[in-house]
Amino acid sequence: MSPSSSPRPFVYVQDRLVCSGVDVTALAEQYGTPLYVYSADAIRERATMLQQAFAAAAPRLNTTLCYAVKANSSLAILKMLGEAGCGFDIVSGGELERVKRAAPQSVGKVVFSGVGKQAWEMDAALQAGILLFNVESEAELELLSERAVALNKTARIALRVNPDVFAETHPYISTGLSAHKFGIAIARARAVYQRAASLPGLKPEGVSVHIGSQIRAVEPFGQALARVRSLVEELRSDGIAIHYVDAGGGFGIEYGEGAFDPAASVASYAKELAAVMQGLDAQLLLEPGRFLVAQAGALVTRVLYTKQNGDKHFVITDAAMNDLIRPALYQAHHEIWPVVKSDRAPQKADIVGPVCESGDFFARDRLLPELEAGDLAALLDAGAYGMTLASHYNTRVHPAEVLVEGGAARLVRRRETLDELMAAEIL
Ligand SMILES: *Cc1c(COP(=O)(O)O)cnc(C)c1O
Repeated sequence: MSPSSSPRPFVYVQDRLVCSGVDVTALAEQYGTPLYVYSADAIRERATMLQQAFAAAAPRLNTTLCYAVKANSSLAILKMLGEAGCGFDIVSGGELERVKRAAPQSVGKVVFSGVGKQAWEMDAALQAGILLFNVESEAELELLSERAVALNKTARIALRVNPDVFAETHPYISTGLSAHKFGIAIARARAVYQRAASLPGLKPEGVSVHIGSQIRAVEPFGQALARVRSLVEELRSDGIAIHYVDAGGGFGIEYGEGAFDPAASVASYAKELAAVMQGLDAQLLLEPGRFLVAQAGALVTRVLYTKQNGDKHFVITDAAMNDLIRPALYQAHHEIWPVVKSDRAPQKADIVGPVCESGDFFARDRLLPELEAGDLAALLDAGAYGMTLASHYNTRVHPAEVLVEGGAARLVRRRETLDELMAAEIL
C-alpha cells in the first residue's frame, strides 16, 4: 500500500517499517524500547480532513475543533494542534495547565468537560478565560456560580445533556444512556437552564452532548444532535440565547485489518451533523480525540523471549499493559506488525508483556510471522488512549515518545528514570 491510500502513516518500504519516511528500526535503536512513535504529519492531515469535511458539508457553518486532550496529551502534539487552529476539550485542571504551556494562544478555545470539577480547577479555568464550561450537574452549577462571583468573572456555560441515545460500542466507553453517570437528562434540561440563567456569574450560551467513544456509525450522532437542536429551539423561546452547540467527540476508527477510508467516513459524519445544524445559527464545536491521533501512533517494542507452554506459544515483549492498557481494559484489538518483515512461517502466538497479571496481553492466538527474541514489533493505532493511560504498575517507567515531522524525528518525551518515578515518595 502506498502511504496515501493507507489510513496509517506506518508502511513498509523494502520490508522495513517506516513512519512518515523515518525508519522505525533506527528510532528504536536510538531511543530504546518501549517507544511511542507518532507522526505529526498524520495528525495534521486528520485535523485538516475533519475541517474540510465540515467546510464541504456546511460551507456557512462555523465549526471549531476542540481536540480532546485526554486521548493524547503530549505537549508537542498539543502545540502542533494549537498551531493548526484547534481549540481543546479538557477534563481537568492538569489538562488546562498543559494547554496553557503548549498552546497559550488557544486558551480562549478551551471547553471544560467532566463530572467532577473541583473549585481550584474552576478557578484556574475562569482566570484563564476559557470558552465554555460543560456543566454536568446542578450541584456543579451552584459551585461554578459561587466561584465566578468570588473571582468577579462570568462563566459561559453549556449543560451537557444526556440524550438517551444508544450507540454500539464497548460498554466502558458508552456514555449517552440515562444509565450512565454523564450529563443531565435532556427532559430536565430546560428547567436546569432556567436555574442557570438565574444564578449570578453564569451565562448559559451552549448545549453540549457526548454519546461515547469509538462509535463507527454516524446515525447515533445525528439522533443525539437532533435532540439537542430541539432543546436549543425551546431554550431560545424561553429567552436563553444559545450560541454554541457542542456535538462532543467519539468518532471511531478501524483498528483491525478491514478497509477504512477516513476521509470518506468523516465526510458522512459531517453530512449527518450538518443536516441537523442546517439553519440553526449556532457555532458548532466538535471534540475529536481518537480520530485525530489513534492511527498516527504506534508502540514499538522488542521481543525479550519466546516460550512454549503446552500447546501455547508465547512471545514476551518489553512493552506491557502498563504502557498500553487497551487490550486488557477493553478487549481492544491492535494490529501487530514486525518492524522488519521476515519470510519466517506464520505462527499462532500470545503476545504478552512482563507484568505479573494474566490480563497483561496484547493479543491472544494471533497468527503472525514467527517472532524471535531481539525482533522489533509495532502495536499499531496506539496514538490515542495509549500513553495517557500508562501507569507505573510493577515500578516500570513510562516509555519515551518521538514525533516524526517532515521526514525527521525528534524526542518529545525522554524515557523516565527510576529516580523520577520515585521522586515524590518519602522514605
Ligand atoms: C473522551 C471525550 C472525548 C473524546 O472522545 P474520542 O472518542 O477520543 O473522540 C470528547 N468529549 C468528551 C466529553 C470526552 O469525555
